[in-house]
Amino acid sequence: MHKKLILLLITFVMIKNIQAQSTQTSENMWLSYNPSYTTFKLFSPEADEAIVKMYKLANDKTSFLTLKFEKKDDGVWQATFDGNAENFFYTYQVKHKGVWLNETVDIYATAVTANGKKAQIVDWEKHYSKPVINNTNDKKNAIVVYEVHVRDATIFTNAKNKGKFLGLTETKIKNKFNQPVGLSHIKNLGITHVQILPMFDYNSIDETSSKPNYNWGYDPLNYNAPEGSYSTNPNNPITRIKECRSMIEAFHKNGIGVIMDVVYNHTGLTKESNFNQLCPNYYYRTNPNGTLSDASGCGNETASEKPMFRKFMIESLTHWVKWYNVDGFRFDLMAIHDIETMNEISKALRAIKPNIILYGEGWTSGGSPLPENKRALKANAKQLDGVGVFSDDIRDAIKGSVFNHKENGFIAGVPNVEESIKFGLVGGIQHPQVDYSKVNYSKASYCNSPLQHVSYNECHDNHTLWDRLVLANPSATEKEKVEMYKVAMGIVMLSQGVSFMQAGQEFCRTKFGEENSYNKPDKINGLQWDNLEKYKTMNQWVKQLINLKKNNEAFALGDANLVQKNVQFVEDKNNVVAFTTTNGIKTFLVIINTNTSKKTIEVGLEKKYKTVLNNKPVLIADNIIVEGTSFTVLEVK
Ligand code: CA
Repeated sequence: MHKKLILLLITFVMIKNIQAQSTQTSENMWLSYNPSYTTFKLFSPEADEAIVKMYKLANDKTSFLTLKFEKKDDGVWQATFDGNAENFFYTYQVKHKGVWLNETVDIYATAVTANGKKAQIVDWEKHYSKPVINNTNDKKNAIVVYEVHVRDATIFTNAKNKGKFLGLTETKIKNKFNQPVGLSHIKNLGITHVQILPMFDYNSIDETSSKPNYNWGYDPLNYNAPEGSYSTNPNNPITRIKECRSMIEAFHKNGIGVIMDVVYNHTGLTKESNFNQLCPNYYYRTNPNGTLSDASGCGNETASEKPMFRKFMIESLTHWVKWYNVDGFRFDLMAIHDIETMNEISKALRAIKPNIILYGEGWTSGGSPLPENKRALKANAKQLDGVGVFSDDIRDAIKGSVFNHKENGFIAGVPNVEESIKFGLVGGIQHPQVDYSKVNYSKASYCNSPLQHVSYNECHDNHTLWDRLVLANPSATEKEKVEMYKVAMGIVMLSQGVSFMQAGQEFCRTKFGEENSYNKPDKINGLQWDNLEKYKTMNQWVKQLINLKKNNEAFALGDANLVQKNVQFVEDKNNVVAFTTTNGIKTFLVIINTNTSKKTIEVGLEKKYKTVLNNKPVLIADNIIVEGTSFTVLEVK
């Protein structure tokens, strides 16, 4: 036992050394190609033997060459191919405890064939220009994120490349009412960033099948290569990389940043995963009895605290920034990762792109052996270095708990949730006027900066806000639901946090009552662009809110001290929340009334008020009188 422990410790120290050296390395240290030779590296301390199998064509069944890996230091194996290996395909195979495991793709592979079966040796410099990365610290405080799935975005359009990466580069596509859709619409709406649902290679879709097949993609296969089903030619690794890069470039050309949804917390496969086939059991957490723990609810959870998985995450994310110019990452079930890893990630990525946006789900889906005080939980967000968290506090205060389908929230007139709404409006920071004991889930502030707080009322998970309003308010009229919806959008967009919406909310997106659409057909998930006509006032409303946020610092102060000082609540009871906010030059008064009746806000007449935005009439007389279920923004002179 003792000997084993000492060996383990030595291995750990050695791995630590590799980590220290290699986080300096910007390129993939695991495969280095040049025209005269190619070096392969593999981490597998317990392997008995390991080989590289090389293929000339993507679909070749037999390899033309097998290279034997040689064991080097620190559990790393190395093999070299002499000559030019450009465009050859390769796989690895490891012998572990006397048994040859499955032939598997390199976990670091950056170019893969259909269904991620083989990796390809690609001369990146030859095929792709290296993006010029903006390395200035021009921090933007007004961030409005639009969450969209590649296939959903164009599947119901007249795009040439429907459902593909390239569909999101097409700027002339229209709906049947001749309104621009896809990229042009997203640009017109004014959002600052798109958040793309998983676009790395995932497992659930057969990329070789022409039948319609749908998945959100939260089942990672090859983390460093784009998903093949979004490419016009999944068989060609070089093409899929090119098309994914074209999509990102098209967003950039239109002034929109790209945030990538990443899922390092678990792998789609467990025993058969390339991690387990190349280095069994190393990359995953286990329970005390040796079984795999499952905080993801998907059969396994990865172990970010282990040096080589932490390093893997950092190198993988770095690859997406350096070669795809990604502007931010959304971490799925982020609390499965440890705080130290998240801070290492933040440090490594900010060294390349100082204004990178990082946030995630500050929760897990089940219990984990990782102690709570180490998890990147929402409650621990103050220990995270510039990494934000989704606020279920504001989400559920607005509409009711996502798990209780008939429950209503603030927008439907539920009493006593004002403090949770205020908590979200200030961006989860400590504010002297918020009574934290009355906030729905969090009895304390958890953000150092309002930009750590992701404010939302809907994302890909759970019912859409519209479907929820239908479920929880069976007797409400269409008009009443639209008014509640407008208030919900107002709260999210004019929060000091990061404002987040799901694609299609600007036309009251419905998934026809489907609660979990992860593998449902296009008719449920695809964006129904023709609804832009039916809900054009909503589209206009969302656009106006976004513009207001982007054009006025008062709604994006970006700093906790400024929010404490400059955001003042003037009313916060009986379903009315009213506050003023200023950047010192321009001051606004926002009045949210979710009673169905009129309310008078006593502000006195010493100042002048000008209406900037309202969904219902406002009367400025002796005092300010707002209608029921209304969201009103006034400029204070
Ligand atoms: Ca795939």
